[in-house]
Amino acid sequence: MVFSVATLGLLLLPGFCLGEDFGYDGNHGPSHWGEEYHACIGKHQSPINIEEHNVKNVSLPPLKLFGIDNPSLSFVANNGHTVMLKINESKAAMLSGGPLENDVYVFEQLHFHWGENDYEGSEDLINNHSFPMEMHAVFYKEDYKSINEALNHPDGLAILAYLYEVSPNPNPMYEPIVQVLPEIETVGNEKALREPLLLGRLFVPDTATMQDYFTYNGSLTTPPCLEVAIWIDFKDHQRLSHEQLAAFRDLRTQEGNKLTHNFRPVQPLEDRIVLHNIPREQNTPKNIPRTYHRFDEHSGQRDVKVPFSIIALGVLFAILLFAI
Ligand SMILES: [Zn+2]
Repeated sequence: MVFSVATLGLLLLPGFCLGEDFGYDGNHGPSHWGEEYHACIGKHQSPINIEEHNVKNVSLPPLKLFGIDNPSLSFVANNGHTVMLKINESKAAMLSGGPLENDVYVFEQLHFHWGENDYEGSEDLINNHSFPMEMHAVFYKEDYKSINEALNHPDGLAILAYLYEVSPNPNPMYEPIVQVLPEIETVGNEKALREPLLLGRLFVPDTATMQDYFTYNGSLTTPPCLEVAIWIDFKDHQRLSHEQLAAFRDLRTQEGNKLTHNFRPVQPLEDRIVLHNIPREQNTPKNIPRTYHRFDEHSGQRDVKVPFSIIALGVLFAILLFAI
């Protein structure tokens, strides 16, 4: 039941639907999206080219992910535009902090963008450099109760973006996904992953670099191109082998052609400012142990406990003093 509800949600989600009338070539290609989906010619579109010399350095509160250490049953589906992974349970993972401040965002799905070869495929570019793949983990704001409602609000979505580079060796974290790709070559096919998935291994491959990211306001990169997304692009790159990347290019579109590429060209930055978060610990005096600051990078829970215990001890000490 849970599975079928999740599948229904996948089919109903605008912009990710089966049979949507958009593609990446010819009359249905990105330069024609605006004819039917007017938001696609808006002023705050994604993706963009991030010029590192043209960003504003900031130190935002720590970005926090919750619930990502529990193994989750998941499935992948071919919707004709991408490979999408969803978790069988709702609210499997939550995101807050950073540019989201105290707002909480709920994990909805993740999917991939890729290119015809190992030299292009990412949507956002860094200093005009393209990467062979990009993963988007889509979260909707919990206050809006559902992703469909969130799409009506400028702060409706938070999307984590991960860039990949080619490595000689396969990345074992992605093998469970890559292995089932041949079984979802046809549009509409979906396949459960054999083992429960640890989202934390995908979302936080390295806690040391998690706070080093670019962030800006933009849009969905597929029709209807709604300008509802707070983008968070991690600077650190993940690695996949050529064979792992190539497996994605064998998927088929609605028309039965190979989905060799599914990235939108970059859009004008216009009046937006891209922020670069400088991890706070880089600005911290050296005499404070690094381990103290690492607590709040991952779960965001221990950073509350440590100060609280110190405060509690202080209060107890004060009471004892007055009692004497
Ligand atoms: Zn995407």
